[in-house]
Amino acid sequence: MLNKGCSEEEIFTFFSQKKREDMDHDYILSSMCTIPHPVAVRAHCMFMETNLGDPGLFLGTASLEQLLIERLATLFHLPTAGGYATSGGTESNIQALRLAKVSKQEVVYPNIVVPESAHFSFRKACDLLSLEMRPVPLDRNFRMDAEKAAEQIDKNTICLVGIAGTTEYGMVDPIADLAKIADAQDVLFHVDAAFGGMVIPFLNNPIPFDFALPGVSTIAVDPHKMGMSTIPAGCLITRDPDLLHSLNIDTPYLSVKQEYTLAGTRPGAPVVGALAVLDYLGKEGMRAVVSGCMKNTDRLIAGMELFGIPRAVTPDVNVATFTCRGIPEPWKVSWTRQGHLRIVCMPHVHLDRIEAFLKDTGEMYA
Ligand SMILES: *Cc1c(COP(=O)(O)O)cnc(C)c1O
Repeated sequence: MLNKGCSEEEIFTFFSQKKREDMDHDYILSSMCTIPHPVAVRAHCMFMETNLGDPGLFLGTASLEQLLIERLATLFHLPTAGGYATSGGTESNIQALRLAKVSKQEVVYPNIVVPESAHFSFRKACDLLSLEMRPVPLDRNFRMDAEKAAEQIDKNTICLVGIAGTTEYGMVDPIADLAKIADAQDVLFHVDAAFGGMVIPFLNNPIPFDFALPGVSTIAVDPHKMGMSTIPAGCLITRDPDLLHSLNIDTPYLSVKQEYTLAGTRPGAPVVGALAVLDYLGKEGMRAVVSGCMKNTDRLIAGMELFGIPRAVTPDVNVATFTCRGIPEPWKVSWTRQGHLRIVCMPHVHLDRIEAFLKDTGEMYA
């Protein structure tokens, strides 16, 4: 640290330089995050100093968090569901598994049954919570095989996990079948809709994945992805509004006496940002955004196939994957564990960017 501070001008000149080293969003085709919506940015700035970790001091902000949960619970067909705002899908998944673990404390060697396509956050969660992870193979279309999932469940299984919008291929697992299995075998069923939770409800033909299915216990959803909020904004929604209290610990010096969250200090800014986007756009606005992203996904797939670059699978949400050797600079794409090219058609990936990408790629393969 400097002994004597330097001028604001110097600091921000340096920061501007550094920020220019960041990738330009015009070329980012690999991310599930996007440029936040202007109303999210405005809300974020307005609530910059708020701390949801001490809700007794920020009653207004805390009530906005509850409003966000209510909005999402209603969107997921159960207005009475509970939940709270997390830092993202990773924390939501960890917390869902903590809930599962405390609900079956008698199990000595607990396991969870997850699809092979599970996000890597489940590895972290299993490590932290000492859980055995049982991966279930996928079918031809990269969806969890429900029958094989049922075979993996035993008396030590504390949670079944299904994914609504997989990170790598954008597929929705057979959530309805899995919900029935979980119900019949009496295990908690966590739906990881970190990405798809803000997409599926706004599709022309929504795939059932939420509390409308009786077996679904908890849902992870990330407003900082397709919800276009500022980072970090995730949510964990629980069918039973009191379920989270099973994680309560005493918090002696705070304005509330107990908390169930994983983080202590929690930013209110991105949480209010998430609410701002939902209320500003409404269902119609969200449908328009999602419909645009899906159209762009279709256009990208059609364009790539004209160059002889076939899709790996037809996705359920706006993630396109291809069997492809490489792509031209400076486009920033990603590659799946199985070696497929992966492009996420987020809201910042406008049609003209897709066309520009297709033009460059077409020239490379000509
Ligand atoms: C993005 C994602 C996560 C992790 O979310 P973070 O916000 O990065 O912690 C978990 N699950 C799925 C399906 C995701 O797409």
